[in-house]
Amino acid sequence: MIAEESMIKPVAICEAEVIETDVAIVGAGLAGSLARAVLARAGYRVLLIDKRQIPPDEFRVEKIAGRQIDILRRLGFIDDVEAVASSYDRVLNIRGRKLVDVSVGRSYGVSYANLVDMARGLTPDASSFLLDQVTDVSCGEDRQHLTLASGKRVVSRLVVLATGMASALGHNLGMRRQMIAARHSVTFGFTIARPDNVPFDFDSLTCYGKEAADGVDYLTLFPMQGGMRANLFMFRDPTDPIMRELRRDTRRTLLRLMPGLQPYLGDFQIVGQVKNWVMDLSVTEGHLQPGVVLIGDAFQTNCPAAGTGVSRLLVDVERLCTVHVPRWLETEGMGIEKITQFYSDRDKLAADRHSLQLARFRQALTSNTDARWSIQRRLHFLRRMITHRADRIHPGWVMRVRGALR
Ligand SMILES: Cc1cc2nc3c(=O)[nH]c(=O)nc-3n(C[C@H](O)[C@H](O)[C@H](O)COP(=O)(O)OP(=O)(O)OC[C@H]3O[C@@H](n4cnc5c(N)ncnc54)[C@H](O)[C@@H]3O)c2cc1C
Repeated sequence: MIAEESMIKPVAICEAEVIETDVAIVGAGLAGSLARAVLARAGYRVLLIDKRQIPPDEFRVEKIAGRQIDILRRLGFIDDVEAVASSYDRVLNIRGRKLVDVSVGRSYGVSYANLVDMARGLTPDASSFLLDQVTDVSCGEDRQHLTLASGKRVVSRLVVLATGMASALGHNLGMRRQMIAARHSVTFGFTIARPDNVPFDFDSLTCYGKEAADGVDYLTLFPMQGGMRANLFMFRDPTDPIMRELRRDTRRTLLRLMPGLQPYLGDFQIVGQVKNWVMDLSVTEGHLQPGVVLIGDAFQTNCPAAGTGVSRLLVDVERLCTVHVPRWLETEGMGIEKITQFYSDRDKLAADRHSLQLARFRQALTSNTDARWSIQRRLHFLRRMITHRADRIHPGWVMRVRGALR
């Protein structure tokens, strides 16, 4: 079926027991909701299915920056992000008490629930969202079949699995999660405030860990609705007693691990709940099957310290929904030769590879104690400090040298 035909036929949803659509997306997290928005805007018949009506207040990405902003802008969603997020433009980067450098550029702080809520709201057509749990999926060369907990069934030309870290449906299709690094990193999320609510002296601050034995990669502080949000990224055994101390006495443990923070934070307290998450790095195998593609965390998980989860899922959404799906729907069938085009897409491969490389790099840079990495760690921060000072003496000089080298 071609796009023009799809545009005049809404999803046959109503109270029907069998719902027909072009693309069925399972999972209305950030990946699935943005995929629906891009495809629906282009006029395709899309059905997004999630078991939860309201995005839960789960601890996931809270910061949008760099390349993620470029892709959101290209997709036309940056104003929508701006409307629900707190923006900031300057990040002080410190190590110990010393200033490493200052990063300049727009970034956003936003809770994941608000981000997903915004992404779901990008598609005004309520009939393209179905509140239900997909309990089974079967895929083939032509039509795909989903079974829902309510007893309804969905028939589509393509199924997009955007189910995050839940892997039951992939499992039903014979896919397996290959573990790359179990318990790779630990992330803490909490909010800090001054007792008298006086604002902090910075827009945003990143403090890098100093001792490899502490396993602290960095703490990042940034504005988010409700106060100054803190994300602490660590590469350390999640069963180490320090984890309990961080949960129970966050302030004191934080200052013990990073005493250089004190002059920047002054008197502060922890407000509300301290959340934490232990991340396994894994990638799905057996994914090359007709009729179905996996995007976002459903295909590959990411190290939060590397901050590549959203970049990867945005590349998936952009490449799948603006390049591949429109081509696939022009002709009959959804055979493996079509599906392969997505998984061998150059941009997607590069984003997936970069995410794993950066995860390994951050872990080694933080906690590897051998001589090579100790030197590399020192050189890494020294290079940044020298570049920053050179740029202050001759503004724009570093940019010009980088441009020339490129
Ligand atoms: C603590 C933490 C911090 C992070 N920090 C960063 C960061 O700083 N930068 C960054 O880029 N990334 C970060 N990430 C990664 C980022 O949050 C994820 O990559 C991203 O949220 C994945 O989105 P998704 O849409 O793929 O999955 P999800 O948001 O998990 O969505 C999956 C959806 O599928 C639904 N679902 C599952 N199974 C079914 C079913 N059978 N039927 C119906 N619905 C179903 C679920 O209800 C859910 O809504 C972090 C992750 C964590 C855990």
